[in-house]
Amino acid sequence: MNERTKFILDEKEIPTHWYNIQADLPEPLPPDLHPATGKPITPDDLAPLFPMELIKQEVSTERWIEIPEEVRDIYKLWRPTTLYRAHRLEKLLDTPAKIFYKYEGSSPPGSHKPNTAVAQAYYNKQEGVKRIATETGAGQWGSSLAFGCATFDMECKVYMVGISFQQKPYRRIMMETWGATCVPSPSPDTKVGRDMLAKWPDCPGSLGLAISEAVEDAVSRDDTHYALGSVLNHVLLHQSVIGLETKKTMEQAGVYPDIIVGCIGGGSNFAGMYLPFLKDKIDGTKPDLRIINVEPASCPTLTKGPYAYDFGDNAGLTPLLKMYTLGHNFIPPPIHAGGLRYHGMAPIICHVYKAGLVEAMAVPQLSTFAAGITFARTEGIISAPEPCHAIKVVIDEALKCKESGESKTILLAHSGHGHVDMASYDAYLHGKLQDYDLPDDLLQESLAALPQVD
Ligand SMILES: *Cc1c(COP(=O)(O)O)cnc(C)c1O
Repeated sequence: MNERTKFILDEKEIPTHWYNIQADLPEPLPPDLHPATGKPITPDDLAPLFPMELIKQEVSTERWIEIPEEVRDIYKLWRPTTLYRAHRLEKLLDTPAKIFYKYEGSSPPGSHKPNTAVAQAYYNKQEGVKRIATETGAGQWGSSLAFGCATFDMECKVYMVGISFQQKPYRRIMMETWGATCVPSPSPDTKVGRDMLAKWPDCPGSLGLAISEAVEDAVSRDDTHYALGSVLNHVLLHQSVIGLETKKTMEQAGVYPDIIVGCIGGGSNFAGMYLPFLKDKIDGTKPDLRIINVEPASCPTLTKGPYAYDFGDNAGLTPLLKMYTLGHNFIPPPIHAGGLRYHGMAPIICHVYKAGLVEAMAVPQLSTFAAGITFARTEGIISAPEPCHAIKVVIDEALKCKESGESKTILLAHSGHGHVDMASYDAYLHGKLQDYDLPDDLLQESLAALPQVD
């Protein structure tokens, strides 16, 4: 029995290559389609938005892609991240299960998102791009890209959903501290924004509108590109550092997970954790490995959505992606896990879910905060509302082990801290949070608007 609490890799063990699951998928991914023609998208279609290196990574089937030295140098500011054994949580639950968690909250912005933000800033800089425009909801992605751009001395413009801009000032202040410009969306800075403000001066904004503003900004300026913080294949590729480090650390500790649990919004942090392990399930080395994707009951993309081509944004500007989706018009209820309120899901996750290689579960908001409080009072870490979803399922699985007497090894992908989300803990602790039923009529209406693709 290994009694260590922290499992720490040396700085020189930061992975030298990202792992690309596209090399090992039993069936290739369906192509992304052009939003206007419905034909498979070409690199030229994407060139106004992304640097060519990222466009290549998006469709690459190379198993290993080298992490540039400059990116690894910046990763050293917080990587390798620590793998913990949750002894105190195990003890409270009185479970024979062994619970491990890989904690991404120690990065400067406090989540996994800079793993890709830094890489994306680097490739843009290499291509001579001086400025990146993006959107952000509650501000996790905006602050991570602001940090990434600061490390390469680039300009960053963030269109932040207006209502969050007003309600959640701290992420905006983080962005400004790292030198980014952050404006509430709709803004007078784009045509889309000006048109909306003319129609509706007090418009609270939406993620779809903010994406449209950032895309318009990027295509209308030669010095500017666009960046996306989740969903796309190259983002999941960059996040594979999480799983690669975890695998190596667990190997050194002589353990292998029976169950891996994580939360999914667009899917990047959890796929980054599990794709290097999923390889072992695909090649038959670990046929019994269970991988559980956890989503909010009020935004149940994998568990309730159809597998269909849909737009990545509300406005219908992005390529059509084959994914489980609640429809690009779906506006989920206002749960506090802002990062999990996305209508679609990473095509790679959808593909392996469709193939039966991974599982999915949906959990209601109140149960996730209860789990987050238990975690804080045992392990100390105050988790963001997103990973609280995964913690809820880890606790359930550990309690099942208590019943059955099995000593399973459970691995939790912990995506970030909740220090900027304390208002949601306040609401929970003082009885002001609620669960939401999924409004079925809303869902049906939104699914009826799925684009027709043959
Ligand atoms: C953005 C975010 C998520 C959800 O995004 P994924 O792409 O699904 O990982 C989860 N946790 C935290 C802390 C986040 O900031």
